[in-house]
Amino acid sequence: MAFTAEQRQQIADNVARKAPTIGACFLCGTRDWQLGDGIVNLRLSDQAGGELVSGGRVLPSIPLLCTNCGNTVLLNVFTTGLGDLLGVQSSKAQGEAHNADVVEG
Ligand SMILES: [Zn+2]
Repeated sequence: MAFTAEQRQQIADNVARKAPTIGACFLCGTRDWQLGDGIVNLRLSDQAGGELVSGGRVLPSIPLLCTNCGNTVLLNVFTTGLGDLLGVQSSKAQGEAHNADVVEG
């Protein structure tokens, strides 16, 4: 899912409000962050390693990339208040289990 222009603006506004001190990249010092064009679904697991499996729980996140070194910061969709805008509902909000449960953290 690529973000629309409206979504990109709202994401930028919310990130500026929720993370005003994002400032310089902590790896290279550059102060230029770029929004990745989609949601990153971090998969949660109860165990380390193992095989790739379908289903499970995910943390939907907004990726911000340093344009110089590629350092990538992930901000939770729900904590940044972007769930509704991006059409992402947690399984808690949906009230039922799905193949891949979206959790708030
Ligand atoms: Zn950097």
